[in-house]
Amino acid sequence: MIISKSIELFEKAKKRMPGGVNSPVRAFKSVRGTPIFMERGVGSKIFDVDGNEYIDYIGSWGPHLFGHNPDFIIKAVQEALLQGTSFGTPTENEVKMADLVCELMPSIEMVRMVNSGTEATMSAIRLARGYTGKDKIIKFEGCYHGHGDSFLIKAGSGALTFGVPTSPGVTKSSSADTLIANFNDIKSVKEIVTKNKNNIAGIIIEPIAGNMGVVPADKTFLQELRQICSDEKIVLIFDEVMTGFRVAKGGAQELYNINPDLTTLGKIIGGGFPVGAYGGKAEIMNHISPAGPVYQAGTLSGNPIAMTAGTAALTQIKNHPEIYSELEEKSALLEKGMHENLKLQNLKYSINRVGSMLCQFFTEEVVTDYKTAIHSDTEKYAKYFHKMLDRGIYLAPAQFEAMFVSTAHTIDDIKKTIEAHRMSLK
Ligand SMILES: *Cc1c(COP(=O)(O)O)cnc(C)c1O
Repeated sequence: MIISKSIELFEKAKKRMPGGVNSPVRAFKSVRGTPIFMERGVGSKIFDVDGNEYIDYIGSWGPHLFGHNPDFIIKAVQEALLQGTSFGTPTENEVKMADLVCELMPSIEMVRMVNSGTEATMSAIRLARGYTGKDKIIKFEGCYHGHGDSFLIKAGSGALTFGVPTSPGVTKSSSADTLIANFNDIKSVKEIVTKNKNNIAGIIIEPIAGNMGVVPADKTFLQELRQICSDEKIVLIFDEVMTGFRVAKGGAQELYNINPDLTTLGKIIGGGFPVGAYGGKAEIMNHISPAGPVYQAGTLSGNPIAMTAGTAALTQIKNHPEIYSELEEKSALLEKGMHENLKLQNLKYSINRVGSMLCQFFTEEVVTDYKTAIHSDTEKYAKYFHKMLDRGIYLAPAQFEAMFVSTAHTIDDIKKTIEAHRMSLK
């Protein structure tokens, strides 16, 4: 495979952009090699600057539920562009968007649009703090909630309850207010809640973790979490930036039949544009400015073009809920093929899948939390990644990410992917 234009662009990029990219995982650091510069996407395929073609399983890291450039989004955006790109005033589309979000996710009674998932989670914990008058939050090891200071915290050695920053620039005082519990381990939550009685404003969780590979929460674990939050007046926040409109029409909360107090959204909600949102109980949401005292604002929030793309995506979901059974069928076919290939090679690697989110870990252990996830052999993943890339299959350039199947993937794409997987494992 010739990637000379990508190599040339990456050399130029490195001179002007830190690491040559605008978001770290794109740089291929964990799989090594040169990041591929993409030029265009159609349906399930992406094409690079050297003219190579790939079946894409990143889907822009989650937003492309319908594949690249679906007509109904492109057409709507083209029309909206002619009306104006931004006004900084209310527009009708924001009202439509809010209605759609609340209809698809009934736990959301009111919603605020923002510009990214990071902004949604940062704002949601500020709201939880402002609403409860408490300072501390609990997050789970291995869950990703964007790059806000409060979330760039990992468990410190020894004492479970003390978090430490994972990045220089995050202060000790912000880490002091983030407590780290273990995913799928309700005892670790209870311990922290007991030790910090009446100090915890919110618990934030990816109900199906997608940023340590794919790791679903146990239903009973989430039910108990819900109960603890209700008992202790803690705001339960489901971070559904990835899972919202991905695993079901109403996200993970629909699959588990559990209502969080607040939900954060992003990715699919923007129809390929930069959008995030947070929403939930009206009683809590009414604390946000200007209805209430908790400040949060945005020059481009609810941007008309982004709202047009978002409403087009959500309308499609609302009118075609059958896409989720189609996605399930295709993804199950892919998983089955991968399992058969592993068996052929006498490999017992575990695969986790929920709907169209899938991850093969290079470990024989069942992956249920961060500790089991990190047993995966990332060197093997790097080799596998490049073998797949050479065969025209574009996977995430890092082990602890999800593979996303879209409605645009055909059975033929899935079959080709299974064949490439078989050859690559060899
Ligand atoms: C992607 C993601 C975020 C961050 O969203 P950005 O738009 O990248 O800021 C937050 N939470 C989860 C669960 C995500 O998958």
